[in-house]
Amino acid sequence: MTTYELIDHEFDVVVVGAGGAGLRATLGMAEQGFNTACITKVFPTRSHTVAAQGGIAASLQNMGPDSWQWHMYDTVKGSDWLGDNDAMEYLAREAPAAIYELEHYGVPFSRTQEGKIYQRPFGGHMTEFGDGPPVQRTCAAADRTGHAILHTLYGQSVKNDAQFFIEYFALDLIMGENGECQGVIAWKLDDGTLHRFRAKLVVLATGGYGRSYFSATSAHTCTGDGNGMVARAGLPLQDMEFVQFHPTGIYGAGVLITEGARGEGGYLTNSEGERFMERYAPNAKDLASRDVVSRCMTLEIREGRGVGPKKDHIYLHLDHLDPKVLHERLPGITESAKIFAGVDLTREPIPVLPTVHYNMGGIPANYHGEVLNPTAEDPTRIVPGLMAVGEAACASVHGANRLGSNSLTDLVVFGRAAAIRAGKVVDKAAPIPGINKAQDDKILARFDRLRNANGSQPTAKLRDEMQQTMQKDAAVFRTDASLKQGVAAMSEIYKRLPDVKVSDRSLIWNSDLVETLELENLMTCAIATVVSAEARHESRGAHAHEDFPNRDDVEWRKHTLAHVNVETGDVVLGYRPVITDPLTPQDQGGIDLKKIAPKARVY
Ligand SMILES: Cc1cc2nc3c(=O)[nH]c(=O)nc-3n(C[C@H](O)[C@H](O)[C@H](O)COP(=O)(O)OP(=O)(O)OC[C@H]3O[C@@H](n4cnc5c(N)ncnc54)[C@H](O)[C@@H]3O)c2cc1C
Repeated sequence: MTTYELIDHEFDVVVVGAGGAGLRATLGMAEQGFNTACITKVFPTRSHTVAAQGGIAASLQNMGPDSWQWHMYDTVKGSDWLGDNDAMEYLAREAPAAIYELEHYGVPFSRTQEGKIYQRPFGGHMTEFGDGPPVQRTCAAADRTGHAILHTLYGQSVKNDAQFFIEYFALDLIMGENGECQGVIAWKLDDGTLHRFRAKLVVLATGGYGRSYFSATSAHTCTGDGNGMVARAGLPLQDMEFVQFHPTGIYGAGVLITEGARGEGGYLTNSEGERFMERYAPNAKDLASRDVVSRCMTLEIREGRGVGPKKDHIYLHLDHLDPKVLHERLPGITESAKIFAGVDLTREPIPVLPTVHYNMGGIPANYHGEVLNPTAEDPTRIVPGLMAVGEAACASVHGANRLGSNSLTDLVVFGRAAAIRAGKVVDKAAPIPGINKAQDDKILARFDRLRNANGSQPTAKLRDEMQQTMQKDAAVFRTDASLKQGVAAMSEIYKRLPDVKVSDRSLIWNSDLVETLELENLMTCAIATVVSAEARHESRGAHAHEDFPNRDDVEWRKHTLAHVNVETGDVVLGYRPVITDPLTPQDQGGIDLKKIAPKARVY
């Protein structure tokens, strides 16, 4: 094995990831005077958050009555009663404060006539505890909200002297003997050097793993690297079976058309020109929750009412809207429809299809951002020195299905919460953890093995097989047969991973090696997803199991914990209870528990 020299860095806090979650955490840490590093494999403003279009949910009441209790209720219902009530209360209560902070940092939100932040309707966000019409809760900067937030947070982080390590690829966590995290090792992509970051706290904000599927709206960089690192550290991944399909990816291209399009009045039709959502969801119609709309579209196509020559997709209409509204509120998707579907959306409908969009599951965390390693005796046991925020984490505020515009809220609320918590638990005067040679050697040995991998299976081939398997066998609708087939196929592909072939041995801009490191992480996520899904014998949120069509709260209102053996691909499943107590008791101003008790989920 080559000997690699490690360049040393010492920080109070190291954040891995510079998307919305990573930057909000970085900014919060730096503002408190922590010596803070942010490591990112892409330039911060190229993180996937930049692509977020529709907006960010908070009950500001700028465009009509709303309350955090209604927002919490919608989130609980959206999660199909799998989210943790303490975290969901925290999200809904803290959202307005987090938005006003963004406004003051300089995010250029769209405005109402009176100059307040503009808010649009979004799927599953309703008035009157779900009984009233849709609420205008989603704050937007046209249809480029993520772009606006990311650029603002990056500027603020630089202003507060956070140190950025850009185009550094984090390889693995350095874990201490007592299960605590002591830092991370990263590879600098442009000069091939290796870096050891030792820190009192590591925050993983590495985003989702959409790219384990063939057709996804997420960037090619969304490869679940943080999830992979956590699994290699022997820690579990939570609720990985819940993968969100967004109803409106552009047919063929997979590029997203925001739910904000339906928020502004867009609607779906089948081959008979029927607005079929009125039949399935009489109250919310086209603004029902994403899992519901995706299933209805799939049913229409299955029953022969799809559009196009192959009758295999659906139309999204915006052609009835005032072109001025499209120009002002939806300029980005007007462009996307033209480029990726060749459609002038002022005149024609857009061809769309449900497309993989978001991972509800991830690294188990509490509402402070602290990573959990649950045991039967202590289901909320924390991992010292390690936090996870954003799409990489599972707090769990999205449970079995995330509501649109609740992810950006999740990023800033929990990025901020992580910094608040760090202010309480990280001691600026305490020493930085020492060098842990055994861990360094282990991490470098893996890196060296992949760098010199000389098997018979090119990375691209294994990746393609994984993506096709996930797309086919862990789809919008699942059956016992499809999931068993998925587990068998994914296990077989996983077993071929040690036989991977990397052709480029260099250390500088070696995209072959980067993709192979990412493939290992994607495979860990994929195998955890399909094994967790196969075991869950009910239908809940995004997990629609045709052999078990009903939700089963007695047996299955619990979080899945998947322990992946990264050597073999074997997965051991465990479970932990859902947290049903809200954060604040009702007599102290909290929500009425009866309001959020499980019931049938209709829109
Ligand atoms: C097209 C699209 C539109 C969306 N629109 C909305 C919306 O309107 N509203 C909403 O609420 N949600 C939306 N979502 C969801 C939301 O945008 C994402 O869930 C969210 O942006 C994820 O943010 P994040 O900070 O967790 O991760 P990301 O933004 O994905 O950032 C991940 C970061 O981690 C870094 N990283 C990853 N691995 C490594 C590694 N190994 N080493 C170093 N760095 C690493 C990357 O460089 C990057 O900086 C949308 C998603 C998509 C794909």
